[in-house]
Amino acid sequence: MMRRWKLLKSAIVCLLLCGVYFVFSLWTRCDVNKKDDNFFRDENRQIDGELHYHNRGAQSFNMVEKMSQEKGPVKYQEIECVINGEYSVQGRREENEVYFPFSFLQKYFEVYGKIEDYDGYERFEWQHSYSKVFPPKEKYSPDGVFMSFEHYNVEVRDRVKCISGMEAVPLSTQWGPQGYFYPIQIAQYGLSHYSKYLRDGKPDVVILEDGEEEDVSDWTVPDRKSQMDIIRDGTLDTNVIEFKTSDSLKSRGIVMSLDEEAGYIFNVQMKFITNGSISVTLETNNGDSMRIHYVQSTTLMMFHGREIFYGLGDRRKKWSRITRDLIIDLQKGLALKYGKSKRNQLKSDFVKLVSVCVRGHGYIDNVTLSSSSHLDQFYDAADWLVRHQDSRGGWPIMVKRRLVPEVLDLPPGWYSAMAQGQAISLLIRAYLMTKDHKYLDAALDATKLYEISSEQGGVLAKFAGVYDWYEEYPTTPSSFVLNGFIFSLIGLYDLTQVAPSDKAEPAERLYNAGIQSLKSMLLLFDTGSGTIYDLRHFTLGMAPNLARWDYHTTHINQLLLLATIESDPIFRTTADRWVGYMKGHRAAHN
Ligand code: CA
Repeated sequence: MMRRWKLLKSAIVCLLLCGVYFVFSLWTRCDVNKKDDNFFRDENRQIDGELHYHNRGAQSFNMVEKMSQEKGPVKYQEIECVINGEYSVQGRREENEVYFPFSFLQKYFEVYGKIEDYDGYERFEWQHSYSKVFPPKEKYSPDGVFMSFEHYNVEVRDRVKCISGMEAVPLSTQWGPQGYFYPIQIAQYGLSHYSKYLRDGKPDVVILEDGEEEDVSDWTVPDRKSQMDIIRDGTLDTNVIEFKTSDSLKSRGIVMSLDEEAGYIFNVQMKFITNGSISVTLETNNGDSMRIHYVQSTTLMMFHGREIFYGLGDRRKKWSRITRDLIIDLQKGLALKYGKSKRNQLKSDFVKLVSVCVRGHGYIDNVTLSSSSHLDQFYDAADWLVRHQDSRGGWPIMVKRRLVPEVLDLPPGWYSAMAQGQAISLLIRAYLMTKDHKYLDAALDATKLYEISSEQGGVLAKFAGVYDWYEEYPTTPSSFVLNGFIFSLIGLYDLTQVAPSDKAEPAERLYNAGIQSLKSMLLLFDTGSGTIYDLRHFTLGMAPNLARWDYHTTHINQLLLLATIESDPIFRTTADRWVGYMKGHRAAHN
C-alpha cells in the first residue's frame, strides 16, 4: 500500500521544550481518509464557484478539535526528520504525528507566525504573507488619493539620506551612497503627502511669529548692536520681522524661547540681506537638547558636536519658504553621525521645540509649528519636477542601475516610464489644485519619452513585436517590469481625464495601447501561487524574478485601482486570485 506525506495537511500548535512545533500528519491511504480527501477537495474548489484553488491546510481546524478531544497528556519523543534526503531536522513524534519546529517551517516555506496574546489566551498565528492589501475606497480619480499612498512614508526610509534643504525633496542613496535625486522617490513623496492631506485635512498650526502683534518682546536680542523690528513688506503685503545681528554661528543670535509640543513641522518664510541662518533647539525624549541649523550653504548636511546643519543654498534677494519635518531632520542627522543601526538604539526622538534663533540680517514671517504640512511638501515635490524637467520632457536618473549586473545595466542618465507616470500623476494634482498651467504643461511634455524606444534613449519596448510596453528600466533586452508599467499607465490615465481635448490625443493613444498590452500580458506574471516582478526569465532565458510580498501586494493594489476605471473583468478576477495567494491558496494542478 502506498503511503504519502501530506505537507501542511494539519497544523496544530504545540509549545514544547524550547520551540513551537507544528504537526505534519502521516496518512495512510485508507477508506476513511479517501473520503476526507474528497470532501476537502470539493470544498476547496467551490471558492468563487470555480476550480482554481488548492486551499492549503484547510482541514487543520478539524485536527485541532480532534486532538483536543481525544488526547490525554501527550508524550513526545525526538525523531530525526530527513528533508528530501538533503539534510536533517530534529522533530518530535507522538505516535503517528510528527511535529516540526516552526523556525524550520518559516524558513523552508517562507511563512510568518508568532504567538499572540489575547488577555491571557495565547495562540499561534500563522501567516502566509507579511504584506497588506489596501482596497480602494472609491473610483480612482486624478484629484483623489493616489492608490494606497496615504500609507506611504517615503522620508522615513533608510535609503532616504535626508530632505535636501536646497531642493526640499528627498535625496536617495538606494543605488549610490553619494546620494542622488530620484524622480520616482520625489514623485512618491509628493503623492503620499497629497494623499495624506486628503485623508487628514487641515493641520493644527501654532503661529510662533507672524509680525501681526506689533510686538517683538518674545525675542531676546544679544547685544546693543543687534536689532529686531516689525516692518511692512510690500511684496508679501503683510507685517514681517526684520532682524539684524552677527551672522556668526558662534554668536548668540536673536532668540525666541518656547515650550511648544503641538507639532513637529517647522515652517518659516525668509528673505536674507546678508549671510545668515535660522536655528531651532529641540528637546528629545531622553532629556537632551539638540540644535539644528538651517544655513545658507550648499553643503547638504553635516553633524558637528551635538549640532546638525542643513544647507539651504542662497536665500538672499527674494522671499522663500522652508518646511522642515524636525523629527526627520533629527533622525537623518543622527543616522549620519551614528549610522543607521546605532540610531535605532539611541531612540532620541523629538519631544518639543524650545527655541528659535535667527542670525545675520534679513526678514522672517509666518514662523509656525504644525502637526503636518502635507500641501507644502506636495508642492515642494511638484515644483522640483517642474524645475528639473529636461528638454525631452524627462527626469534623467543620474545613477547607474544594475538590474542584472553585466547583462541589464543602465548607465547614469536613463529615463524611467514609472518616473514619467508618477510625475504626471503628481503634476496633474498640482494643476487641479492651482490651475497653474506650468504643471499641466510639464505633465503633457512628460509623455514624449513614451513614444521613443529604449534603444533610442526613451522608455518604449515591444513585447513579441506586437505589444507596446513602457519600461520602468529601459534595458536592452527589455525587462518588462509589471508595477512600473502600471504606474506609467495611471499617469497617462490622469492626463487623459484632465488635459484639454486638443492636447489629450497622445496620452489617450498611449494609454489605450498600454492597457491593451496589459490585458494581453497580465497573466504572464502569474505563477499560480504568486506573481513575477518582470519578464527577465523570458527575455534572458534565466530563472524568473519572483515578486516578494510587498511587490505582490503592489500588483494587487494596482489591479484593484484599474478595476475601478476599466470595465474588463480581468483586473478584478486576477486581483481576487492574487489576494488568495497571500493566504496560501494556489491554482489547482492537473
Ligand atoms: Ca505677517
